[in-house]
Amino acid sequence: MKSKLPEVGTTIFTVMSRMAAECGAINLSQGYPDFDCPERLRELVAARLNGGCNQYPPMAGVMELRERIAEKVAAHYGFSPDPETEITVTSGATEAVFDAVQAVVHSGDEVIMFDPAYDCYEPAVQLAGGKAVRLPLTQPDYGVDWDLIAERITDRTRMIMINSPHNPCGSILEPADLDRLAELIRGAGIYVMSDEVYEHMVFDGLRHASVAAHEELSASSFAIFSFGKTYHATGWKLGYCIAPPALTEEFRKVHQFVTFTSSSFVQYAIADFMAECPEHAWELPRFYQRKRDLFCELMAPSRFRFTPSRGTYFQLADYSAISDLPDREFADWLTREIGVAAIPLSPFHRTPSGARHIRFCFCKEDATLERAAEILRSL
Ligand code: PMP
Ligand code: GLN
Repeated sequence: MKSKLPEVGTTIFTVMSRMAAECGAINLSQGYPDFDCPERLRELVAARLNGGCNQYPPMAGVMELRERIAEKVAAHYGFSPDPETEITVTSGATEAVFDAVQAVVHSGDEVIMFDPAYDCYEPAVQLAGGKAVRLPLTQPDYGVDWDLIAERITDRTRMIMINSPHNPCGSILEPADLDRLAELIRGAGIYVMSDEVYEHMVFDGLRHASVAAHEELSASSFAIFSFGKTYHATGWKLGYCIAPPALTEEFRKVHQFVTFTSSSFVQYAIADFMAECPEHAWELPRFYQRKRDLFCELMAPSRFRFTPSRGTYFQLADYSAISDLPDREFADWLTREIGVAAIPLSPFHRTPSGARHIRFCFCKEDATLERAAEILRSL
């Protein structure tokens, strides 16, 4: 059989979590909390499940949820998307990324994305018949070199994919970055896929800059979010996309044939929780900054070198003082022999960087972080 994705294997998240389970290692690899989502949210899910919300919800998502999303976006970013024509609920951000790409990328189109980039972007482009053009993030801060992007934009460029806060690097884009991007795509028929799933994990007093609220960029952007991250419920696979009406129309043509819609009772329950506990999202940066600070403090005496993340719940670490192994081998060794699982960076790269970096996930109980750091300090 001729594979449509010949270079794709099982994702590194599945590989490392499986290895961690097999070896009984502390799992700081795949990004999910080892604590539960809020009790009140679970009660609301049970109430909706037992209250008859068990048949197909509307294709674009239940209206109550889209209305709460509009209110939340207005409160956080000062822009109120129209629930009817600009918000679509999806089965996680992963589906939304796929739908956005299929909606606008034609065969032969080029899509600019960064190196490293989250793993689901390039396969979506390939399946649409497009070509990924991967450009390096700047060193050492993992920012964007907009001059380089300007050089690489061609008549075939159809989309630019950004991700802030950035997985796996923990860097963030600032308002000036978005202004520059808007300038670069002005009048060029280029769309933006902006992956903002870590919108509420931004630290040190910084604020998340959303393309959805950018005066100019919003007109050509798909802004993508995930309830899994915000509500500590990655297993529910619920997210949403905000895009202007014409883009939403095309996006929904894809969405309706990929999944049609997503679990009804979870949608209703999240809408209920958003109405009841709007403070949850506002409190998240402080919640995760404390975890980042704890993890960095615990790791400071170790031989790993790192600059604290500015966003996400991931911390990159340079292990070159400990080992010369390539990153996949180092992550295997760390999991199997040392008992702590982490994610190597090479699967996020198209061009191997040769850097000796791995990614630790700190959305874990303090006790988990303490146990892991104690082991890592011994290396
Ligand atoms: N984008 C990024 C950058 C992510 O880290 C994730 C993570 N899990 C996703 C998209 C997918 O989110 P979801 O689980 O909602 O599909
Ligand atoms: N986004 C999660 C991470 O970066 C993984 C999601 C997945 O396993 N597909 O760890």
